[in-house]
Amino acid sequence: MGLVELLTYLVTKQLCGSVAVDVVYRHYVLGHRISDLAREYGLTKDQVRSFKVRVLEKADGSAHRAAAMLKYVYPYVKEIEPIIHRDGDRCRCLLCNKDVVCDLVYIHVAFKHYDYVDFHVDRIMRLLAKKFNHNNASF
Ligand SMILES: [Zn+2]
Repeated sequence: MGLVELLTYLVTKQLCGSVAVDVVYRHYVLGHRISDLAREYGLTKDQVRSFKVRVLEKADGSAHRAAAMLKYVYPYVKEIEPIIHRDGDRCRCLLCNKDVVCDLVYIHVAFKHYDYVDFHVDRIMRLLAKKFNHNNASF
């Protein structure tokens, strides 16, 4: 189903302090257009499209499935405190206390802090399992 893969992507983006999590939520769940989102967040349309494609890949190419998954995981992902601190064009990782090139923060978090990413992914998967067992519903 790709839920773990989707969560891994979103948690990593959230830890980076990226707007990607909001952008894909608003696109898939709220139906906001790529051009509007690009303008609002100061991104290029290609940047927004790349976020969109990364999510779609993890939903087996189904926008409907992407929306369904995002709807449930979004609040949990947004609760996570970013570990990358941005100050203008300088980025610092608060977890290892190192300066990181801003264009490379995703790679830094994904490779240096994959254990921390996994910790949050596992935690959210358990919360979702509890929620759905309780409601006797399934994805
Ligand atoms: Zn770090």
